Amino acid sequence: MTKFKLEYIWLDGYTPVPNLRGKTQVKEFAEFPTLDQLPLWGFDGSSTMQAEGRSSDCVLKPVAVYPDPARTNGVLVMCEVMMPDGVTPHATNARATILDDEGTWFGFEQEYFFYQNGRPLGFPEQGYPAPQGPYYTGVGYSNVGDVAREIVEEHLDLCLAAGINHEGINAEVAKGQWEFQIFGKGSKRAADEIWMARYLLQRLTEKYGIDIEYHCKPLGDTDWNGSGMHCNFSTKYMREVGGKEYFEALMAQFDKNLMDHIAVYGPDNDKRLTGKHETAPWNKFSYGVADRGASIRVPHSFIKNDYKGYLEDRRPNSQGDPYQIASQVLKTISEVPLSGSASAAA
Ligand code: ADP
Ligand code: MN
Ligand code: MN
Ligand code: MN
Repeated sequence: MTKFKLEYIWLDGYTPVPNLRGKTQVKEFAEFPTLDQLPLWGFDGSSTMQAEGRSSDCVLKPVAVYPDPARTNGVLVMCEVMMPDGVTPHATNARATILDDEGTWFGFEQEYFFYQNGRPLGFPEQGYPAPQGPYYTGVGYSNVGDVAREIVEEHLDLCLAAGINHEGINAEVAKGQWEFQIFGKGSKRAADEIWMARYLLQRLTEKYGIDIEYHCKPLGDTDWNGSGMHCNFSTKYMREVGGKEYFEALMAQFDKNLMDHIAVYGPDNDKRLTGKHETAPWNKFSYGVADRGASIRVPHSFIKNDYKGYLEDRRPNSQGDPYQIASQVLKTISEVPLSGSASAAA
């Protein structure tokens, strides 16, 4: 038997953005535990905005498991928060009730800032560094500093070793701003991996004295870009059947559901989706081929391929909950009838 360190990780009850929480229990298993071998566990919900002090027990239900490469015999356990009965989802547990479909693929582009001493990493104590321009995908000390790359590389390796579908990194438009991409089949799969990648990034940067700032417009109304979490998506039908008529019907439904999408695309998005800095105004839906100033960007390949492939919703922001974002995309898609050979599943 081996003693494994199980890190149970969950989302707390803070609004509008939940925090990641985690605690460790040590348990013996013959080999690396599978999901169904992991027991329910509890925590004090009165300290996480999930219960009153008098009756404060909440239950942690394991829903996904990954090796923890940073710890000897470490296990990362993504959990849903349940009521004391262990079966009723807690009100803060969005994951329990979202739409899911393994045939729908999601690629999230998580943008964020490194923050140190209350400002983006690399910003001087007073004022601003040189304006935006050279930082995006930049190289060299004056563009990316001397520690950010070490962190994003280490994070990439941690994610890959944990079996998370990390697909890439780039330095972003603002100084101190970076992005990583996660791809997954199904909303729960992709969203679990975003949350776990966020967790690994936050835990990793502790030792550097650096925080991750996920707010979508941390520098306010200035000439510094905000952070998004673009949601690239494709259903089986979009990949295999597609067509102009279906695409236009889909876009009409996205237009109709504008406010439902904005409601779950992250807080303060009106401060980011201004029409400037490669964004579309939050209160007007638009789409365009290769247009980074549209709500939804249609890749060239999509048009060339007879309106088949994936689309990029550029509106979700860096602080958004990927569970709710993916679910809303699925909901809108589900409201559009499949044209022609409707036998192909959505
Ligand atoms: P950009 O910065 O140009 O918008 P990225 O390369 O950062 O693009 O991100 C593109 C994302 O699209 C990746 O996360 C990738 O996994 C995702 N993606 C690619 N093909 C598909 C697909 N068929 N369905 C869903 N997502 C996809
Ligand atoms: Mn990108
Ligand atoms: Mn980006
Ligand atoms: Mn993008």
